[in-house]
Amino acid sequence: MTKPFVLQLGVHAGKSLERLMFTDPRYVSVLATAGNRYAGWLIKRGEDRVGPVCTGCGQADSRYLVFYRQRVDDDFTILPGAYCDKCAREHKNLGRTVMSLGFSATLWPRRKIDQIRIAKHISEIFALKGASDEKLFRFFRESGSSRHLR
Ligand SMILES: [Zn+2]
Repeated sequence: MTKPFVLQLGVHAGKSLERLMFTDPRYVSVLATAGNRYAGWLIKRGEDRVGPVCTGCGQADSRYLVFYRQRVDDDFTILPGAYCDKCAREHKNLGRTVMSLGFSATLWPRRKIDQIRIAKHISEIFALKGASDEKLFRFFRESGSSRHLR
């Protein structure tokens, strides 16, 4: 691939798969399962992410997202930012849900609106809000770290 993969058919015709990773990650996951190899590659790359400094302690490289689950319903709160190993462990000890900083976290909640909330959170961590398809494409091409993007 040398440019964003824009869908020609279906409900998301005209949109790039790279963008759909942030707006409908479940759809990309379904395409990957159906045998779309580029979708499969994107999903894999989406797990290989290292965020900027830890929101908790300021140490370089954050690798975890933290969620505070409510007792009622499936509701949850996303803690701002992303966290290092040490801070993530502390959150886990407090009974919070800790997940790797990756797009599989977006597939954790059942409701699509919650999946998109997490995807949006990830786009904010990597300063990709309002990014062009080309910038999103480069994000997935780059290995692990967000630092190469800046
Ligand atoms: Zn930390």
